[in-house]
Amino acid sequence: MKIVPKIAYFSMEIGLNADIPTYSGGLGVLAGDTLKSCADLEIPIIAVTLAYNSGYFYQMLGHDGTQIERDVRWDFGSVLDKAPVTVKVNIQGKDVLVDAWVYEIIGHTGHRVPVYLLNTDIEGNEEWQKNFTRVLYDATPFQRICQEIILGIGGVKILKAMKYNDIHTFHSNEGHAAFLTLELLRDLKDVDEVRKRTVFTTHTPVPAGHDRFDYGLVYDVFRNSLIPEEIKKYAGKDQLNMTHLALYFSRYINGVSKKHSEVAQKMYPNYKIHGITNGVHTVRWIHPEFADYYREALPNWKHDPSVFDRAYLLDSNEIWRIHQKIKSKLLDYEKSHSWVLSDQKLLTIGFARRVTKYKRATLILNDIDRLGKIAKGRAQFIWCGKTHPRDQDGKNIIKHIFWASQYLWDNYRVGLAFLGNYDMDLGALMTAGVDVWLNNPMRYMEASGTSGMKAAHNGVLNFSVLDGWFIEGYAISGGMAGWKIGPKPNEPNAEINNDEADANDIYETLEDEIIPTYYNKQNDWIERMKQAIRLIPYFNTHRMVSEYATQAWNLKPQPRWTTV
Ligand SMILES: *Cc1c(COP(=O)(O)O)cnc(C)c1O
Repeated sequence: MKIVPKIAYFSMEIGLNADIPTYSGGLGVLAGDTLKSCADLEIPIIAVTLAYNSGYFYQMLGHDGTQIERDVRWDFGSVLDKAPVTVKVNIQGKDVLVDAWVYEIIGHTGHRVPVYLLNTDIEGNEEWQKNFTRVLYDATPFQRICQEIILGIGGVKILKAMKYNDIHTFHSNEGHAAFLTLELLRDLKDVDEVRKRTVFTTHTPVPAGHDRFDYGLVYDVFRNSLIPEEIKKYAGKDQLNMTHLALYFSRYINGVSKKHSEVAQKMYPNYKIHGITNGVHTVRWIHPEFADYYREALPNWKHDPSVFDRAYLLDSNEIWRIHQKIKSKLLDYEKSHSWVLSDQKLLTIGFARRVTKYKRATLILNDIDRLGKIAKGRAQFIWCGKTHPRDQDGKNIIKHIFWASQYLWDNYRVGLAFLGNYDMDLGALMTAGVDVWLNNPMRYMEASGTSGMKAAHNGVLNFSVLDGWFIEGYAISGGMAGWKIGPKPNEPNAEINNDEADANDIYETLEDEIIPTYYNKQNDWIERMKQAIRLIPYFNTHRMVSEYATQAWNLKPQPRWTTV
């Protein structure tokens, strides 16, 4: 039976697979996981994003840790199909042709979710117009606003051209796609009618995640072709703020964890902010070695993540054996990509995420000699992450980690490897192959975080600040799925981030709890691994998408959807 799409999901980045480099980090990976679960759950949805000719970038590292960026060469014609439509958007009074490529996500029952990837590198466009879809997150405001016009306005037009006439909900995943509301307004000519059709998810309280454009630029780019007179009422007095535009026109707005929805509610007191906690796509993120074991131990796990509630019945020896096997695969990869000599017997701590200031990648290096003494002969570290090409702070952080790596080796023979080009494949190997997953962002800046959920899916224990998803994960597991860093959310002044105090807590917990448990109480460790695995029934995108379907997308509940 053909299912007619009712929902259109717009996202600046979607991580479909590692060969399609149209994502930079958590937002895109989450969008990919969301759509994969939609395909499995037969949700009537289609998605819109951009096809970037040079992707995000390939990361190389100089000997001192200097990040070197290379364009990604990929031929999207070989992995995507051409859609038979071309539309026009108007930029600076000139028509820009926009065409679309299609990638179909096929769910486990065969349901298909088409993803339209828009592109302007086509004959008939001028050179500067062809460049609009060259790279993801181009840093100049002009390029950014043009990309967002292509996504929001071009996207709605492409769906019309493809005759998707039954779409009742347009979902702006983050504010980048909010221009879709202006295109809807042009058709419907009524604010309330647009509101009935629009849904918005905000993903970060960090200012850099909220695009703002000067009205001078806005008027120059739009040349009044579409910009309504009341734009300042919709999108902000002084600057056009994409988040405000999305908020103004949405019937339903949500943050991505319980804590984040509270934080966002404080930021936007005039709107009701709901909370739908993120998840990850279970089948995608469970390592194949565990998947083999679960085929017999937990049949039906691929369709029903709630079976992991019975993780306490799993065989402890098997869990440990499989984990060691994945760990040795990670360490093999590490040895072939780094000079640092790793050791299978050592407690291995991983940290991989976008390198940006609030994530505090170097917090654990705060007192490097103390770390060296604690870790000597007992722990090793594997790090990776890209920083945005224009983020000088991020680039300095990577260099500092390189320096620390040399220092720890020279003085303590402690290994800290920094691996290049973090992508979804390496992310999957790392979150499954380390023993402990470290996460220490500044509190209440990490809206959710999803890499820690991938770790939990593979029995890897989280060592994390109580922020985002881990506030919930820590509570649900009764503190067993890992260890916390720093204060609990209800403690006074928890939002004041004291690096010194947090680093101190890291050293103490590492020395007094994590290291002794790992080496002296292996049974306790494995019990904790099972408690981590028991988080899967909640922190998966099947549960998350089921919540979106009923709360945000106004779909009638279906038996196959999962609730907890
Ligand atoms: C899961 C994932 C992320 C998100 O990680 P966070 O810890 O939530 O920032 C980023 N990048 C890649 C490649 C991922 O797989």
